[in-house]
Amino acid sequence: MKIKANLQNLQKLLPSSWLEKLQYIHSILLFRWILHGRSQPLACNQKSAMVFSPHQDDETLGCGGMIAQKREQGTQVVVVFVTDGQGSGGLETSRDKIIQIRKQEALTALSILGVAPSEIHFLQKTDGRLQELSSQEQQQTIKQIAELIKYYQPEEIYVPHRKDCHRDHEATYQLVKLAIFQCGIKVELLQYPIWLFWRAPLFILLKLQDITAAYHLSITSVQEKKARAIASYSSQIQSLPRDFIKHFLGAYEIFFNAEL
Ligand SMILES: [Zn+2]
Repeated sequence: MKIKANLQNLQKLLPSSWLEKLQYIHSILLFRWILHGRSQPLACNQKSAMVFSPHQDDETLGCGGMIAQKREQGTQVVVVFVTDGQGSGGLETSRDKIIQIRKQEALTALSILGVAPSEIHFLQKTDGRLQELSSQEQQQTIKQIAELIKYYQPEEIYVPHRKDCHRDHEATYQLVKLAIFQCGIKVELLQYPIWLFWRAPLFILLKLQDITAAYHLSITSVQEKKARAIASYSSQIQSLPRDFIKHFLGAYEIFFNAEL
């Protein structure tokens, strides 16, 4: 882990604007490398889908194009938010108000992408604490997720990448995977990257097996819709690095198949 420690020191030494530029370059290089050299094209299909999103914005950033394309064809897409989003930076107001703002932003973004409020679920777990759930809370969350999966019987499930470099994102992957095992249904599990391409040490620390079985989906036809949906998350746009947001406005989305 010496490389990791050195990179963490580098992060402390560099001005944050420089670090953001480096992270942007890193994310673009990694994204392009996978897009052009290590992924298969994915055609938009009519398989029903469920998207599990740790926070109110991950679903739109990572899968907004896929969601819009499926909805334009009339294919069902259900979105489940796992946390309440109260840990959002940049908002100087009460926790309850933050939760309310982020919920409203999610409803607006998803209405642009064509998802009705009846297909959106909020599990309201505490933001930032998904890896610290007691075993009882963990079992209860898995049961809640399993019940939703059993109810909707999706053909595809989308989750953050299992090594997405964010505690809630990695926990969401694990909780959903355990819920799929619990309901015993046959489903395709696809991972979407949010922080994976952005965190600088990853280019060095990623193992090839973490980024194999990659697909790229062209979202040109719905790119403008996705940009509008992202823009409706105004509280997050203020607090996240501008280049980080820019990174999700491109013509492709990348997904990684997960073994079940
Ligand atoms: Zn998130």
